[in-house]
Amino acid sequence: AKAAGGNRYELADADSDARAIARHSLTNCLPAALDNGEFFIEYQPLVRLSDGTVRGAEALVRWLHPAHGVLGPDQFIPLAESTGLIVPLGRWVLEEAARQARSWKSAGQYEGPLRVNVNLSPSQLRYPGLVADTVAVLDDAGLDPTALCLEVTENALIGADEDELRPLRELADLGVDIALDDFGTGYSNLSYLRRLPVSTLKLDRSFTRGMQRAPADPVDVKIVEGIVSLAHTLDLSVTVEGVETGTQADHLRLLGCDTAQGWYYARPGPPERLHTLSLADASS
Ligand code: C2E
Ligand code: CA
Ligand code: CA
Ligand code: CA
Repeated sequence: AKAAGGNRYELADADSDARAIARHSLTNCLPAALDNGEFFIEYQPLVRLSDGTVRGAEALVRWLHPAHGVLGPDQFIPLAESTGLIVPLGRWVLEEAARQARSWKSAGQYEGPLRVNVNLSPSQLRYPGLVADTVAVLDDAGLDPTALCLEVTENALIGADEDELRPLRELADLGVDIALDDFGTGYSNLSYLRRLPVSTLKLDRSFTRGMQRAPADPVDVKIVEGIVSLAHTLDLSVTVEGVETGTQADHLRLLGCDTAQGWYYARPGPPERLHTLSLADASS
């Protein structure tokens, strides 16, 4: 920390030093954490807006750190990403999620199995073994490719050329659904969407916040209306994130959004709970 500059600066520096040390020590224990089985996955249901049924769930990784307790992905995914550990960690998430989805297979009475959504980071996209690994994981789990959705952020794909998109296209050709995550937060131009091998847009939470309570923010309504109409024109399905109230869910259903995810339905939780939720809605 700098000595000069008064208390305020010393405090600020001490603070950022502490953060740097914390980052460093977390980064150092990441590889062992994977070996020691300290990561676990919570699942958050994805609900079809037209009838309220659970269609699947997004896998969200957490780290049960022996000293710090449960850490969220925002605290360690960037570290795993910058050290390359994201590739083995991401493969572990995929394996776990695929096994889990296989065991949900018989849950629910409606058409089709529950699907599982798994997040892919930019380094995983660039990793040359992505397609082979994914195929092997699906094979080992006995999971149909159509029961998997890979979520890729809009920003990870901006500027990607045909070579860089090929792995995703191959996965899409195998039947894996590709979703464009955090849609609307990047600067991809809309005509670019046509070139991407995606079948779902996941609309960022920032667009639906203005609909939590009536009256809805009229600008947000217009924007969502526009995105839904564009998406449906391109034959893409629309999932909305961060649905926290019934008012919001009603609005988004009326606006034609297909699928919703958020605290209004369920917070991320253990995999057994999804089974219970989907059985409950199948029998109601
Ligand atoms: P994301 O993919 O955009 O995931 C949605 C985040 O929103 C999750 O945060 C989820 O818990 C949170 N959320 C869900 N419903 C609501 C709601 O109604 N209101 C609010 N305010 N938040 C809600 P989480 O679990 O902390 O994950 C943060 C990010 O970490 C994810 O954002 C994703 O980008 C990343 N992540 C999580 N798991 C993985 C993983 O296995 N691999 C990679 N590469 N990234 C992951
Ligand atoms: Ca996601
Ligand atoms: Ca998202
Ligand atoms: Ca997000």
